[in-house]
Amino acid sequence: MSSPNKPEVAPAANFIRNIVEADLAAGKHAQRHWAGQPGTAKDHAAGPLDPAKLRTRFPPEPNGYLHFGHAKSILLNFGLAEQFAGRCHLRFDDTNPEKEEQEYVDAIVDSVKWLGCSWEKDGETNLYQASNYFDWMAQFAEYLISAGHAYVDSQSADEMRVNRGTLTQPGKNSPFRERSIDENMDLFKRMQAGEFADGQHVLRAKIDMSAPNINLRDPAIYRIRHATHHNTGDKWCVYPMYTFAHPIEDALENITHSICTLEFEDQRPFYDWLLERLAEGGLLQRPLPQQIEFSRLNLTYVVLSKRKLIQLVEEKHVEGWDDPRMPTLVGARRRGYSAEGFRLFADRIGVSKNDSLIDYVLFEEAQREVMNLSDERRIAVLDPLKLIIDNYPVDQVEECFAPNHPLKPELGKRAVPFSRELWIEAEDFMEEPSKGYHRLYPGNMARLRYGYVVKCTGCDKDENGKIVAVHAEYLPETKSGTPGADSVKVKGNLHWVSVAQAYAAQIRLYDRLFKVPAPGTRREGDAPDLERNFLDDLNPASKQSITAQLEASLKDAKPEGRFQFERHGYFVADRVDSQPGVPIFNRAVTLKDSWGKVS
Ligand code: ATP
Ligand code: MG
Repeated sequence: MSSPNKPEVAPAANFIRNIVEADLAAGKHAQRHWAGQPGTAKDHAAGPLDPAKLRTRFPPEPNGYLHFGHAKSILLNFGLAEQFAGRCHLRFDDTNPEKEEQEYVDAIVDSVKWLGCSWEKDGETNLYQASNYFDWMAQFAEYLISAGHAYVDSQSADEMRVNRGTLTQPGKNSPFRERSIDENMDLFKRMQAGEFADGQHVLRAKIDMSAPNINLRDPAIYRIRHATHHNTGDKWCVYPMYTFAHPIEDALENITHSICTLEFEDQRPFYDWLLERLAEGGLLQRPLPQQIEFSRLNLTYVVLSKRKLIQLVEEKHVEGWDDPRMPTLVGARRRGYSAEGFRLFADRIGVSKNDSLIDYVLFEEAQREVMNLSDERRIAVLDPLKLIIDNYPVDQVEECFAPNHPLKPELGKRAVPFSRELWIEAEDFMEEPSKGYHRLYPGNMARLRYGYVVKCTGCDKDENGKIVAVHAEYLPETKSGTPGADSVKVKGNLHWVSVAQAYAAQIRLYDRLFKVPAPGTRREGDAPDLERNFLDDLNPASKQSITAQLEASLKDAKPEGRFQFERHGYFVADRVDSQPGVPIFNRAVTLKDSWGKVS
């Protein structure tokens, strides 16, 4: 059944949901215990049965702002938890001691909340920091050494690279591979004690140097790095590799379904190998988390790589991370996009393993649909031209009534003042009309929406021949909402605001940041040696600032208040630059898809 408050969602394929449903039906995770916080097998065993039917996580590295791709992952993970009585953890994957900025952490927290996702449920606050697990990770590494599953390698980085082999050539065992357990343990302890320089030794898992999957050729699991970590300070001078840390983080947190993007598919055998070894050693609870990969979101007309986004900001091609043209979540929010629209979009595109490039139009369409249902209507004249109604009394002002939402009569109507001088769109008058033009031209009649039918009588021009005002006469018996309103039939229906009461506002018209669907990629007909740079594909007309004439009530718009400006699109009061009583508006999206079409 359709509801006026919710756009309909065609159920999209989501193979991960199917896996979860099958696991739940089989009771695969029903016997897990939960310590109330992350922990080892022993910790969890002491706790009650896990009240969460499943646990997922969203694990950003706090080294940048979240983008539209992350939103897909967030909505998927939190969505599954919501749908199946589970929990979704927000985990900062901060095992790399490289500089992490609190600014990023705060922005990530805000953006996840803004999307409507919560890591707090039934008294649990599942907000974690992977660096808090360093003690466990080091302990687990020592266990692997003691069980003969890890060794300290002292080859140089170059030697290691050469001996790793290639896709077609097996690797070669390191001369240090057969060190005794005692020697390995001693060296690893001394690595931790700070006795060695960066790169002098690494701890490697001992698997198989001839494995067809290169990721199983004794991957490095701990490296020496004399660096201060934002959370653990100088406590550590060895840090776990991401491929070692990540599965352990999942297992400690009792994650059941560890969902990641396809580039980690080749890492899955190591993910499983590592967790198996640790579970064998009694360190981790079974069943172990299962890694499931899906294809990342790729969207036309944007770039979704942190590196490129950083470049856009640092080289000032945009005005910051939250520039409304940026495909970041802070940018989307400022642009006026709705979290609900993101959800609708995510539901529609579904989740699969096929790499695909999604048309940006689909995203905009989801946003429009949500906004069409939620947003109140207002009147704005973006390209103002004065209309003078010569037979209307000079000082008279009367009220016309405009519905706040045509689909929701319960939202009522508001009064808009009508007077002798109105602003209309410049394009709503043509001195010499083109074929099929039904708006104002000398001798023609059109309706001023919610007001009267007027008959155009001519226009004034300045010395350069530019039209500066249009003249008309109104038909008093045709006021909208009165019995005679329909007595005169017209085809044009124009919006307007009264000059004396209008609010002259600054408005930013945003368009696509890039002018081609796949910025920076080669196009048909390119010379074989041509390399494209995504920056060359920037759309020079992606932002335009104008002064528009708005109905007076818009002066009171609060930051983030969003409206449909009739005939134009959806506009939001900018949350950063608006002043009380002086909102500045951003265009989120036009009413219809007009990209590439000449209007
Ligand atoms: P980028 O590749 O843009 O630098 P990232 O993957 O390095 O992003 P992380 O902070 O590691 O950024 O990502 C957190 C989570 O978001 C990961 O689980 C990752 O798989 C997921 N993710 C990142 N980009 C996308 C995308 N385009 N589509 C879906 N999920 C994504
Ligand atoms: Mg990453």
